[in-house]
Amino acid sequence: MLYFADMNQVEHIGIAVKNLEASIAMYTLLLGVKPYKTEEVASEGVITVFFDAGNTKIELLSATRPDSPIAKFIEKRGEGIHHLAFGVDNIKKKIEEKKEAGFELINTEPKDGADNKLIAFLHPKSTGNILVEMCEEKK
Ligand code: ZN
Repeated sequence: MLYFADMNQVEHIGIAVKNLEASIAMYTLLLGVKPYKTEEVASEGVITVFFDAGNTKIELLSATRPDSPIAKFIEKRGEGIHHLAFGVDNIKKKIEEKKEAGFELINTEPKDGADNKLIAFLHPKSTGNILVEMCEEKK
């Protein structure tokens, strides 16, 4: 069977952080660039901060309320890499394709994400314990 790269790049890496200000300062030092965007996604109870890291982006994720998925993640697993996000051209089609390929989808319909994206997550139990996001730039 022939496979080809249909998740065309690691669009960003999502990192869960406890102390947003301290993390912004650390990543600014580490990457040598300041964040280019800060955006709250109220429906997810999260503030996102984006860094341009050359051929990918770093997305810091900080909870705004205790029942936020990010707060729960940090409670269970501590700070660290939260998800890998792959850029796709047609997210609706990709959701169907990944479902057919046997992956478990958390989102069977695209939803609004940060940074002008439509997003959908694959469940970590079908992807070797890594939360995988597919994202499509909104046109
Ligand atoms: Zn993301």
